[in-house]
Formats: sequence, structure tokens, C-alpha cells
Amino acid sequence: MCQHCAHPPCVDVCPTGASFQRADGIVLVDRHTCIGCRYCMMACPYKARSFVHEPVRDQRPEVPRGRGCVESCTLCVHRLDRGGTPACVEACAAAGHQALLFGDLNDPTSALAQRVAREASAPLRADLQLAPAVRYQGL
Ligand code: SF4
Repeated sequence: MCQHCAHPPCVDVCPTGASFQRADGIVLVDRHTCIGCRYCMMACPYKARSFVHEPVRDQRPEVPRGRGCVESCTLCVHRLDRGGTPACVEACAAAGHQALLFGDLNDPTSALAQRVAREASAPLRADLQLAPAVRYQGL
């Protein structure tokens, strides 16, 4: 999945500014300005982006998609901006697993930041110094 790097190479290489980082750190693609060049797909060391080859039917207005654009995990910003959580986190909790947690790493008082401070976790490919926002336990 997109690791929502603090220093995202996809944003660095994007010629149109379609790849961008929100103030809260979430990395997104603006489908209105993406020209489908796929430079970001080559730049991403996590292979997290996909190109939409086929027309997309049954669109959901809160999650627009489009043929000829690149897309990746958005952390469900449409849900976050309404005070919700990512759908995968909700589904995992509903299944009783609690394997996925979500929170604000930049807020030291958040439950997630405190757990990251308390328990060992690691990002993928820390050697690349991209500072991914996603942490894993038990790697
Ligand atoms: S495919 Fe779109 S988002 Fe990716 S680098 Fe090209 S214009 Fe930017």
C-alpha cells in the first residue's frame, strides 16, 4: 500500500503537480491534473501506485476514479475528513482482529503515537530515508 512518506518521491517526480501531499501528510493524486505519465509509478519504491487502464463504471462521487490516471491508497480521506477511519481499519476491527490501527503520528497524545513510542515497530525500507507514515510490527 501507499506508505504516505514524509518525503514522497512520487511528488518529487510528478510533472504536473497531480501528486501532492496534504498538510496532514497524506499523499494523494489529483485526478483532474494527472496526465497518466506514470513517472510516479516508477519512482515509488513500494510499487504502491496503479494505472487505471479501463473505463470505470458505477463511480462513487466521494472516491472519483478515472481511466488514464494513476491511483493508490488514499487512507480513505473522504472518511477521515468526516471524522471516520479508513475502511480497512474499520473492517479489521469489525472482524475482531485489531491488527490495523490508525491515528495521528504527529500528535504525541494520540493513542497511536503513544503505542508507537511504547512498542517496537518499523517502516519498510527505512534505509531509503523517505520517512513512511506506516509502521509494522513483527517484521
Ligand atoms: S501519472 Fe499522474 S500523478 Fe503520476 S507522475 Fe504522472 S501526472 Fe503525476
